[in-house]
Amino acid sequence: MDQAVPEVFTGSFTQQEPIPEEAIEAAVAVMRHGRLHRYNTVPGEAGEVALLEEEFAAAMGAKYCLAVASGGYALGCALRAVGVAAGDRVLTNGFTLAPVPGAIAALGAVPVFVEVTEDLVIDLDDLAAKAEASGARVLMLSHMRGHLCDMDRLMAICDTAGVTVIEDCAHTMGAAWRGVASGRHGRLGCYSTQTYKHMNSGEGGFIVSDDAEAMARAVLLSGSYMLYPRHRAAPPVEAFEAAKWVTPNVSGRMDNLRAAILRPQLARLSEQCAAWTARYRVVEEGLRDLPGLTLIARPEAEDFVGSSFQFLLPDWAPEAVQEVVRRCAARGVEVKWFGAEAPVAFTSRYDSWRYAPAQSLPRTDRVLAGLLDMRLPLTFSLEDCAVLARIIRAEVSAVYQRGA
Ligand SMILES: *Cc1c(COP(=O)(O)O)cnc(C)c1O
Repeated sequence: MDQAVPEVFTGSFTQQEPIPEEAIEAAVAVMRHGRLHRYNTVPGEAGEVALLEEEFAAAMGAKYCLAVASGGYALGCALRAVGVAAGDRVLTNGFTLAPVPGAIAALGAVPVFVEVTEDLVIDLDDLAAKAEASGARVLMLSHMRGHLCDMDRLMAICDTAGVTVIEDCAHTMGAAWRGVASGRHGRLGCYSTQTYKHMNSGEGGFIVSDDAEAMARAVLLSGSYMLYPRHRAAPPVEAFEAAKWVTPNVSGRMDNLRAAILRPQLARLSEQCAAWTARYRVVEEGLRDLPGLTLIARPEAEDFVGSSFQFLLPDWAPEAVQEVVRRCAARGVEVKWFGAEAPVAFTSRYDSWRYAPAQSLPRTDRVLAGLLDMRLPLTFSLEDCAVLARIIRAEVSAVYQRGA
């Protein structure tokens, strides 16, 4: 290659694929009949939302599924459904995105942040200690950036401590741990279908569970009124008997238009997930054995979806990390730094959520100070991913060698 002309990447890191034609046709059909509200059906018609819930439950191997207005709504609804109330402490990841502590705070509950490891998963020793010390009865577990912790050990810790687990699978829809779908280890699993996630309806989300009582409460909370018998993936009507008198309506339903465009996407979810992971593996290969850069280990038991890529520049000076970010940006490669003092775009740090009580997470601080992150939309080809890796490799090396 010509050394004088540095390679520049021209792809867009925020451009997802178009909505499949089949999904566009399904959306147009809904608009033609005009019955967009999920409970606006004619005799003999199930409605797109009810059908989507049935199909998503089957895809995740869950008894029940509820489709809702957003991933953040799913988190808040799940917390309420397991009985979290104002003043309760809720364990959650110190390394996550703003909707997670936000859902806890929206209930008047108090986030208790747990440290992250160098493998970018929740620190299970810190979790065990804080489960005991905090008195929290619930863990909102965020599989941040698609990294699954040892779910067997996590569930053992939480079961022993009497902690109910809710999974935030915004980045792990389609992933699995030891063959069990992400979202199916805890009591409830929550997903997002917002544009940047694994299926795209602009906004949207799901809750799945096998727990009839919690799911009955979630359905009522979402704004079902007394129309819940029209669901196809909800618990039997008996499960609603006690709850229907005491569960507030906190409207957050999904509509038929969004469900219509999600059903064809769900049908090809596993193909899409494989395509993401193939891209991830190309970047990973391209960055192997680079002095100064640490790749994130991916355990054998983890069947992940590589829709974004992370790496560490461990113990680098902040100026050197920023220099790498700048140099990559100059060549068209958008890497985001999780160590920045102030929140930037989607990234933010636990200490920027100042509505939560101040907490000290030294291990997390150290990891985030060296953590870089990049999206891998499916509009990138495998060759694009090889280009990304070459550029990052060159720029990390250049800054590292100068510092060394
Ligand atoms: C996107 C996201 C959510 C919330 O999803 P929305 O549909 O945007 O409300 C929750 N958790 C994480 C980690 C996310 O990235």
